Amino acid sequence: MIRILSIFLLSFTLAAYTPFVHAASPDTLRVDVTETSRAQGQFFTVRATATRSAPSLWFMERTYTMFLQPDSSWKAMVPVENLTKPGTYALLVRTTTGEKKIPVRVNPNNRKIQYITLDPSKKGLRATEIEKMRVKTALLTESPDKLYSGVFLRPAPGRTSSLFGLKRSYNGRPVESYHKGIDISAPQGTPVKSTADGRVVLCGTVREGFQVHGNTVIIDHGQGLTSIYMHLNTISAIEGSPVRKGEVIGTVGHTGISTAPHLHWGTYLYGISVDPQLFEGRQY
Ligand SMILES: [Zn+2]
Repeated sequence: MIRILSIFLLSFTLAAYTPFVHAASPDTLRVDVTETSRAQGQFFTVRATATRSAPSLWFMERTYTMFLQPDSSWKAMVPVENLTKPGTYALLVRTTTGEKKIPVRVNPNNRKIQYITLDPSKKGLRATEIEKMRVKTALLTESPDKLYSGVFLRPAPGRTSSLFGLKRSYNGRPVESYHKGIDISAPQGTPVKSTADGRVVLCGTVREGFQVHGNTVIIDHGQGLTSIYMHLNTISAIEGSPVRKGEVIGTVGHTGISTAPHLHWGTYLYGISVDPQLFEGRQY
């Protein structure tokens, strides 16, 4: 009886393992995209499994790093630049053993065009080379570790006075720029908090040449995601230091090109701005 039982148990055990033995080859690439239809200024979340080495990901003639996740999959949040022409495009994921092409749709976000007439006397209010270079470099940070977790916080209380993505035409010329964040209206001195855990990669001040951005903090959240906080009155963050979600990094002000105290908050993926409202109160 004991013998019969042990044979039964043995065959049961073998049966339980069988599916793993006959599973698809570990090199059979699988690619999932959470939503295949997104609007301008949003992003596609792409995940690749069953590949040991980092896959290469292409979208709109640009390559994006895919980052290794704790479950051995590879992930990238691929931004759709706000001025991308609506239409059908493809996400291409390639490994040494195969490739997958996923058709995706980019829809218009219907954000209004603001027609701005620039006073010739304001032509001097241009970003300095130092602020352009330092901001660009910081926003392009791609550190391999995912530093953020849980839901993203709104960095300051207050009314959203300007949305992300409003397109701008200057002096009747075609649209060539847009609002790369949201504006939160708040009194001067209101504490500004980091939206998520990360590392401070830039603290720039008016004194250092940040004429347009004003006093600015940029935080790297890892895996291609960064956030920017502009026009600050004071900065308490320290460049190079780690920062926790909800930690005060400065206060609301109106330094740089700003007419009234407000926080300009932006979120970037691989250096391309995406709508911060996609992050607030959500997790990825
Ligand atoms: Zn703004």
